[in-house]
Amino acid sequence: MTEILYYPDNEYLKEFDATVEKVDEEDGYLVLDRTLFYKQGGGQPADHGTITWSDGETEVEDVQKEHGEIRHYVDGDLPEKGDEVHGRIDWDRRYRHMKMHTAQHIVSKVVLDIYGASTAGNQVHADRSRIDFEPANFDEQDLKKIQEEANRVIEEDIELSKSEVPREDLEEETEDGRTNLDLIPDHIDPLRAVEIGDIDICPCGGTHVDSTGELGQLEIVERRSKGADVERVEFVLQN
Ligand SMILES: [Zn+2]
Repeated sequence: MTEILYYPDNEYLKEFDATVEKVDEEDGYLVLDRTLFYKQGGGQPADHGTITWSDGETEVEDVQKEHGEIRHYVDGDLPEKGDEVHGRIDWDRRYRHMKMHTAQHIVSKVVLDIYGASTAGNQVHADRSRIDFEPANFDEQDLKKIQEEANRVIEEDIELSKSEVPREDLEEETEDGRTNLDLIPDHIDPLRAVEIGDIDICPCGGTHVDSTGELGQLEIVERRSKGADVERVEFVLQN
């Protein structure tokens, strides 16, 4: 089992040392005993970066959890099983994902509070992110209001806290419609709780910033209808 070094609240670490536990030459991936690389999931893309060892270096292009393993897919040479390696994540890309993911929490909460709409899905990217809300039917005025309220939370520079919490407690504390708890496999307990001050709490395995002030200005750039009751809202961060 790979130790996840960014859990529960070490999301600003950029480099780490690890030992290679498995190498698959055919599929071009390696498994480490510990990692800082975020595996794709929860609407957040995988981290990129480099892995170096005594006489080699390779680029990590994708990270996936498959068959219970966290697989680092690389383009280039592979080290050998047992090698000591040094990993370095592409911090610029990861930090953008952290900001976007935190912005997603804020927008999801704001929309739930004002319109009672749940987050049916979300996809974070470094440049532009989206959330699907249901049931929802926003007009221009609504979008303006959502944007304003999200920016108010950002400007207040509210601290986040991330910690492991017994599943039962977090399920109780999470507001109805905030996130789909049924999508988190039953055996995962404790869950990682992400709290934005006292305004939002929800279970999340992604990466986030430590304070909302880091996000800069949020701008909603597009709204699209994705079916009878589903609205897709796209946003960017200006900073
Ligand atoms: Zn999250």
